Amino acid sequence: RAVTPAPQSAHYRPRGGFRNPWVSQAVPGYGSLLKWMLVHRTTRPRPKDPDPSVFPRVRSSFVAQRASGNQLTVTWVGHASSLLQLGGMNVLVDPMWSARASPFRFAGPKRWVAPGIVFEDLPPIDVVLQSHNHYDHLDDATVRRLARKAPEATWVLPLGLRGFVRKRGVRGDVLELDWWEERTVGSLRIAATPAMHFSSRRVGDRGDTLWCGYSLRAESNRGVYFAGDTGFHPEFAAIGERYGPFDVALMPIGAYEPRWFMRYLHMNPEEAVEAFRAVNARLMVPIHWGTFKLTDEAMDEPPRRARDAWLAAGLPIDRYRQLVPGETLTL
Ligand code: ZN
Ligand code: ZN
Repeated sequence: RAVTPAPQSAHYRPRGGFRNPWVSQAVPGYGSLLKWMLVHRTTRPRPKDPDPSVFPRVRSSFVAQRASGNQLTVTWVGHASSLLQLGGMNVLVDPMWSARASPFRFAGPKRWVAPGIVFEDLPPIDVVLQSHNHYDHLDDATVRRLARKAPEATWVLPLGLRGFVRKRGVRGDVLELDWWEERTVGSLRIAATPAMHFSSRRVGDRGDTLWCGYSLRAESNRGVYFAGDTGFHPEFAAIGERYGPFDVALMPIGAYEPRWFMRYLHMNPEEAVEAFRAVNARLMVPIHWGTFKLTDEAMDEPPRRARDAWLAAGLPIDRYRQLVPGETLTL
């Protein structure tokens, strides 16, 4: 095996690798995947998607070079990819600039909307955070491009992924974190937080590397929570207690149907709102929707349902900040 996962991790088993500690049936296996692909999808009508042209893209307004130490900007690139300007530093989370979330250039989920920031227009990047190794989050070509564009950047990864980025030319510091581990990078305190998900890029590598979310805290005390890819698990309140309160939480709201399969991997919009409430944040930016068609719900359903769940929970609508790819939230 190419990676050497840390056997000291509490959620690592020599047989089967990393696993979620909360549910016995953590992640459905290949049998369920085949059942979904070959039976469920072909025998059930699927909701119709809108035309991709309904998803607009706007000109970003992040601070061109560096925001000041107490400023915070969040620019949604699309899917989970976002640019954060926090503590005077520029941070990319799950950078993905390629046309397909796939091991192939000719097949696999295709982008519906061009990345919200043209790659060449990115400001100098200080930190890159990766939540896990799925193709829609960790992209071979984007890692290589960033390694050339930002050779000094520090990469923060869950356990087991260092080799992946090193092989693709990353020469700067690479920090591998287990859940609840923290490091200081420049003016930021970064912690890896638990998530209920799995890792895999090919047959036979499931669980070889870890998955996580992140808490980022600047010296100005501004804080951001990025949930990564996750199902609904019991630790959101613990994350909020340990690292909150956050100014902004980036919460995934898409890729949740059918529930019998996806609930172990991805929250639905109602669960995302519930997790947001547990995690102790002021604003929610919904991510992981409208960019790649991964699952069975319609592409425009997640934000509608998230908004409904938000209002049903009695939360003030000005704290729900749905962005368009390219749009910048400035605090
Ligand atoms: Zn994933
Ligand atoms: Zn994903």
